[in-house]
Amino acid sequence: MVARHDLTTDPGLQEQLLQARRGTAFFARKLNELSDAELDGGSLLPGWTRRHVAAHIGYNARAIARLIEWAATGVETPMYPSVSVRDHEIDFGATLSPIALRNLFDHSAVHLSVEWRDLPDDAWSHEVRTVQGRIVPASETVWMRTREVWVHAVDLDNGASFADIPATVLERLLRDITGAWAARGTDAGLLVRVTGTDLVFGDAEAAVVVTGPLAGVTQWATGRGTGGVSAGDGGTLGDAPVPSAPKWI
Ligand code: ZN
Repeated sequence: MVARHDLTTDPGLQEQLLQARRGTAFFARKLNELSDAELDGGSLLPGWTRRHVAAHIGYNARAIARLIEWAATGVETPMYPSVSVRDHEIDFGATLSPIALRNLFDHSAVHLSVEWRDLPDDAWSHEVRTVQGRIVPASETVWMRTREVWVHAVDLDNGASFADIPATVLERLLRDITGAWAARGTDAGLLVRVTGTDLVFGDAEAAVVVTGPLAGVTQWATGRGTGGVSAGDGGTLGDAPVPSAPKWI
């Protein structure tokens, strides 16, 4: 079925789709601001150039589109055959010519947007499996993509920052990350508090309290530096060194 508007009538999902598309447009803007030569430069991710980040975002859209096709047809099509195939694909993509790399990003983003648009209401609850092996409803793919495009736009390292990411996206991301720490018990001794909000995560008996605005705390939580936060021992803020965040992924 072909529609000009999203087939889903769920207002929550429509709002999430908007956030994913805004993030994609933001990533596109940062990518387009880079000259072809600048694509060779380093990203914020260790061992990855900006080319790797762009290739990853392109292949990520294709992989998520496969999940939507799965949800639509019931025919199992995994994101990637394996994690090593995924990694190989990114290394290959990073060697593409600048024009091919930009086309990969553009075309895959449009394709995914159309797959989402044409998925009928009842299919959004169909279950699919992520590359990490999680079973999720197709609707979860919107958040999976949203997270990728916003955070990796910062990783392009040409001026985007966590302050550019909408607060609703930051908050959900921080909940995901601190939830993963809590599930693994890696947040022992650590309390995270977001200033100006009632968001508090972690160990109430903590020895170390990390605090800052939502953008700073989320940046720190994703392992991207301590610039936006301070730490205290529960007494005065700034009287303790900021610990590195527990691993997230
Ligand atoms: Zn990623």
